Amino acid sequence: MAAPVNIIVGSHVWVEHPELAWVDGEVFKISAEEVHVHTTNGQTVITNISKVFPKDTEAPPGGVDDMTKLSYLHEPGVLHNLAARYELNEIYTYTGNILIAINPFQRLPHLYDTHMMEQYKGAQFGELSPHVFAIADVAYRAMINEGKSNSILVSGESGAGKTETTKMLMRYLAYLGGRSGVEGRTVEQQVLESNPVLEAFGNAKTVRNNNSSRFGKFVELQFDKNGRISGAAVRTYLLERSRVCQISDPERNYHCFYLLCAAPPEVREKFKLGDPKSFHYLNQSNCYALDGVDDTEEYLATRRAMDIVGISEEEQDAIFRVVAAILHLGNIEFAKGEEADSSVIKDEKSRCDAKSLEDALINRVMVTPEEVITRTLDPVAAVGSRDALAKTVYSRLFDWLVDKINSSIGQDPNSRTIIGVLDIYGFESFKLNSFEQFCINFTNEKLQQHFNQHVFKMEQEEYTKEEINWSYIEFVDNQDVLDLIEKKPGGIIALLDEACMFPKSTHETFAQKLYQTFKSNKRFIKPKLSRTSFTISHYAGEVTYLADLFLDKNKDYVVAEHQVLLTASKCPFVSGLFPPLPEESSKSSKFSSIGSRFKGVLEAIRISCAGYPTRRTFYEFLHRFGVLAPDVLDGNYDDKVACEKILDKMGLKGYQIGKTKVFLRAGQMAELDARRAEVL
Ligand code: ADP
Ligand code: MG
Repeated sequence: MAAPVNIIVGSHVWVEHPELAWVDGEVFKISAEEVHVHTTNGQTVITNISKVFPKDTEAPPGGVDDMTKLSYLHEPGVLHNLAARYELNEIYTYTGNILIAINPFQRLPHLYDTHMMEQYKGAQFGELSPHVFAIADVAYRAMINEGKSNSILVSGESGAGKTETTKMLMRYLAYLGGRSGVEGRTVEQQVLESNPVLEAFGNAKTVRNNNSSRFGKFVELQFDKNGRISGAAVRTYLLERSRVCQISDPERNYHCFYLLCAAPPEVREKFKLGDPKSFHYLNQSNCYALDGVDDTEEYLATRRAMDIVGISEEEQDAIFRVVAAILHLGNIEFAKGEEADSSVIKDEKSRCDAKSLEDALINRVMVTPEEVITRTLDPVAAVGSRDALAKTVYSRLFDWLVDKINSSIGQDPNSRTIIGVLDIYGFESFKLNSFEQFCINFTNEKLQQHFNQHVFKMEQEEYTKEEINWSYIEFVDNQDVLDLIEKKPGGIIALLDEACMFPKSTHETFAQKLYQTFKSNKRFIKPKLSRTSFTISHYAGEVTYLADLFLDKNKDYVVAEHQVLLTASKCPFVSGLFPPLPEESSKSSKFSSIGSRFKGVLEAIRISCAGYPTRRTFYEFLHRFGVLAPDVLDGNYDDKVACEKILDKMGLKGYQIGKTKVFLRAGQMAELDARRAEVL
């Protein structure tokens, strides 16, 4: 967004500030491109005119509830508005029909109580203060009145409040579509209680969030013809498998491990559990307890939620037995064996059938055209094998929980309308990025595209309603990144799948193939000096990926020896997690099923800026700018004509007059304000 050029001495402006992001002040000197500003925090800032944005001195001190009411739609204006509202505990703000939520980091019970739900039920959108209930209400009414299905996308970076928002949306939809007064295991209650179950197994403390979801989630609520919830499906994406065996301070592993270690004594005794500090999978970090969370209480709450969701006592027992087994598995260590490149399990007191476990962990059978060779693994490789087993079992357990929840809630085959809620983690860029980040960021690109198209359509509808001329506006288009990643054939994913099918491929050959294929692609960069990493220029910024584990992670296969071990398990629950495989099964890629996702607010603003970002009703416009043309005001014209005359007199081009509103181009509001300041 280029700053408007109509900044003059005396203008109130925002300038960039290294700590505060933006600070306001008054221009006292302009020389060529340089603007000199006295800031309200007592500094003098000299900066390029492109870094200075006009400040709306007329803006109400408490902010406006819809960003489209802002006179200037630019970053400092938007942030200032959100901050002003946040000061007053107003955590929600609209941008048109998009809701922006700011994490309050404190419980606001009155904001979500039954009284509040009653208020929003059936209320006209925009009539009440912005609220997450209003968004759900629109979706519900579109379904009832027009038979339309809808999805609500919740986006934001980690810790922003997506999952909490998703829960509020579901609670409100359960309130609208639930059976009041019915106690027990209703569909809506099962849907709500599926959250604590999934969170116990799929959430963990991270640096950013004590209860961070490590998987994406799409909940589909199915409704019958009377608008009652008649079924539901939960789909999850990309559980972070690596966390099961690798964590770093001050993060934690998945909640379930800690709450099981804090279970009542008889449970701990049964599973031979004690202090979490004694387990390798937990003691890689020094963080065990969470502020304000009682793991014993969490254990009981999880069991209760499992009851409601329809998981039987025996199944619950088996689930926690598997969780305990993973902890014990992680404590198995290996010593060098007698032969070269071999290993033996150190602890002879191992709590399983030691021989078959040992076989599965330290032997690999290689099939070559000539013969079948049994190879042994050295201690380092055996640790890798142990961890792979733990990850496989855990992710199967998680998938089992999701399946169980779905089958016990039940699907309604006759449902014609659904409301979906998507809660998926945001764009990620770390120091080291691997396949997981690649998938997440690809999903983000998909959502971004969806969002672009959606906002574009919405804007178009508003213009059509006001009967103003509409011409195609260019907005941020990310189709080229999507092509780079998902085009069939020839995109990165297609090349990866291809590489996975050739036994001779390595991450080096895969990377070379990428370098060759995308040599002249603007979105693809080969980092100098690197032989295996590549950079993608995403809509949200550049991210460099290490190709090293892409092949293995894409295959997502289960080691044959592990499969044999688990299929043969004496525990029917465990063998049930690992049904015998049909032959051709190794290649699996979850890409096609991943939904999509979008970046927040500023992107929408960029899109708005390209069109007519500022709208004012005729009345508002005359009230503010009438002073620019007193003769017009005196002329007894109707409001629409008067607006037109003022805009003409000011020599503005490209604006449009609708049926009830004036639509101004980016920067035109600032220009009118500058003229107004001269007159006043
Ligand atoms: P995300 O899913 O975006 O990573 P969460 O939804 O888990 O983030 O939110 C992180 C934390 O922020 C929550 O555990 C909660 O403490 C707090 N929080 C988020 N939204 C709200 C809200 N609307 N009201 C109160 N607390 C909230
Ligand atoms: Mg979350």
